[in-house]
Amino acid sequence: MPAIEESAVSDPTSDKPVSSPASHYIQTVAVQPELDIAPGFDSFSPATHRGSTVVFRNLAELRAYGERSTTYWRYGLHATPTSEALCQHLALLEGASHTLLLPSGLAAISLVYFALLRSGDDVLVPDNVYGPNRDHGEWLARDFGVTVRYYDPMIGSGIASLIQPNTRLIWMESPGSVTMEVPDSEAIVAAAKARGVLTAIDNTWSAGLYFRPFDMGIDISVQALTKYQSGGSDVLMGAVLTRDDALQARLKRTRMLMGWGVSADDCHLVLRSLPSLPVRLAAHDRGAREVAEWLHQRPEVVRVLHPALPDCPGHAHWRRDFSGASGLFAIILHDKYSREQVDAFVEALRLFAIGWSWGGAHSLAVPYHVPTMRPAGSWPPAGWRHAGELVRLYIGLEDTRDLIADLRQALEQQLGG
Ligand SMILES: *Cc1c(COP(=O)(O)O)cnc(C)c1O
Repeated sequence: MPAIEESAVSDPTSDKPVSSPASHYIQTVAVQPELDIAPGFDSFSPATHRGSTVVFRNLAELRAYGERSTTYWRYGLHATPTSEALCQHLALLEGASHTLLLPSGLAAISLVYFALLRSGDDVLVPDNVYGPNRDHGEWLARDFGVTVRYYDPMIGSGIASLIQPNTRLIWMESPGSVTMEVPDSEAIVAAAKARGVLTAIDNTWSAGLYFRPFDMGIDISVQALTKYQSGGSDVLMGAVLTRDDALQARLKRTRMLMGWGVSADDCHLVLRSLPSLPVRLAAHDRGAREVAEWLHQRPEVVRVLHPALPDCPGHAHWRRDFSGASGLFAIILHDKYSREQVDAFVEALRLFAIGWSWGGAHSLAVPYHVPTMRPAGSWPPAGWRHAGELVRLYIGLEDTRDLIADLRQALEQQLGG
């Protein structure tokens, strides 16, 4: 192998000091340029602060910050001015005092479990909970000695009879995933409070705007910011919010020990979408109610599970507790249609994409075979004569006239007659 000629190897240290006030060599200037950026660039957008290392002005500051673990601007993983701006903005919107950001909605759910439960504890979870939350509970039960029990989401004050001395936490989701039952949160919170049990709600459906968990006495709210807060179908992030300082301290410490953080770029994307959140949500609400009411008239559809329609279990709770609805609901098709026929209906839709994560501008459809998702046996609800296949619909920001025309052609083509 021929020796490499000396002159062919570039040596960045061999040149002369570049002309700068300190006359450093080029490699030092590459790392520590003396920049002169005028201060005072005030824009509506909070600055995107990327940073792992936080630079302290002296050792006294470093040591003081190191000892006071609650202090911000300590390490980029824990908080940056960008993540802090997002935390405060989200807390203002949902009426919380504290927000913690997590890499996904599911990580936010995990944080609640790991911060609040220990071996020997018991947790109650609604039978219609977001699927990965359910899987999580089973893992906790198997490997961490936490008992996880699933309750009928329409149980209401009957939850009192399920509370044991070791029950630490009751999860709620309103409305529940896929089947959309709206629980009697007031009754569940009252029963939990009477026994000193913590309550947590997955409040993703209302984006924290139409359901006010902290005013209802719920201790913790979880948001999948991936959905409406991002609004772009391009960010994964979650949040855990609370009004309680002591709970916040436990949640924050666990988040730190887990090493969970979020990128400032992702925070920027969510911050960029928040100003339009209320008007987007109102548009999804309007569109979804229009489509839901149209579907309600169709002979192929036996039930429309939209919290604002009387068909939906818990509709009265929605009327009592919510100030609006969002874009996600479900329909139950007549049980004369097979799974294959319902699949063909979903695949015949042209404007509804097939996909999970809603909250963006695009409409979505997914069929579900519910009986296999409800091991606690709370499906179908008592008194239902027909419970065919379920299709979950997410109404995006397209014109509803086009969405309805699309649904009509797919229903007529695949299920008509
Ligand atoms: C999507 C979703 C989550 C999880 O959010 P990811 O960011 O996708 O992990 C949690 N709860 C509900 C109700 C959701 O719809």
